[in-house]
Amino acid sequence: MLTSNYHTHTYRCGHASGKDEEYVLDALSIGIRNLGFSDHIMLPGFSEPGLRGDYSLFDNYKASIESLRKKYKEQINIYFGFEAESFLYYLPYYKELVNNKVVDYLILGNHSAMNDNQEIYCSFRRITNPSQLYLYKELAITAISSGLFSIFAHPDYFMYSIQNFDNDCKKISREIIETCIAYDVPLEINVAGIRNGKKRIGTTTRWIYPTNDFFSIVKKYPNAKCVLGLDAHHPSQISDKGANYEAVKFAKEMGLNLVDKIDKIKSK
Ligand SMILES: [Zn+2]
Ligand SMILES: [Zn+2]
Repeated sequence: MLTSNYHTHTYRCGHASGKDEEYVLDALSIGIRNLGFSDHIMLPGFSEPGLRGDYSLFDNYKASIESLRKKYKEQINIYFGFEAESFLYYLPYYKELVNNKVVDYLILGNHSAMNDNQEIYCSFRRITNPSQLYLYKELAITAISSGLFSIFAHPDYFMYSIQNFDNDCKKISREIIETCIAYDVPLEINVAGIRNGKKRIGTTTRWIYPTNDFFSIVKKYPNAKCVLGLDAHHPSQISDKGANYEAVKFAKEMGLNLVDKIDKIKSK
């Protein structure tokens, strides 16, 4: 049974809906004991409307989750965090959030790369050459080895539009997995990818993620930890039993080492 989920968004990011409290109620309805909010990180001095909430929403987000934490403390543990990219420019900011305990945790969502001028110069949804693939890997490893992240969300995001899992894909997968093991960062089986159904990618039809290709390499490492992440963008997606069941089935069939509660994630 699923008792923890650390991947939950809120309406503030611009592409999720529902009230914060509804996510909590939906989680309670299926017996979740640990619920982490990890909305797309709000960044000072940078906005991406429709992808992440404006930095001006930070205080409201934090206040709302803190008040839910208090209101429901007898029934469920609620954690406050963000899903953040490996933006080198903002790593010092992430460090401040984690070290000053402004957040309970961060999860890594390696969607894109940002340069020193705070410009997004590469989207990992559309990897078309090995140098972009290696950039994905370098940024993932930098973030994981910073010690600031508690989970690597959809670690196989690089497979978004890649058709052939070639030797470069295998190589970067192994390096990513080995770094996650070294820093005790669980690899997420992303349930949103399952909920969204199979897609046609080139000549194959598969989930965008999780991918069999990546997780069959994970399986070769007995001490690699995996965790389910619902990546909920609407309250009802928490209790989507069909997708949650598929995700557990995927983990079992692949023979993955599924962990549920993450001890490293602690609230104040
Ligand atoms: Zn999102
Ligand atoms: Zn997410």
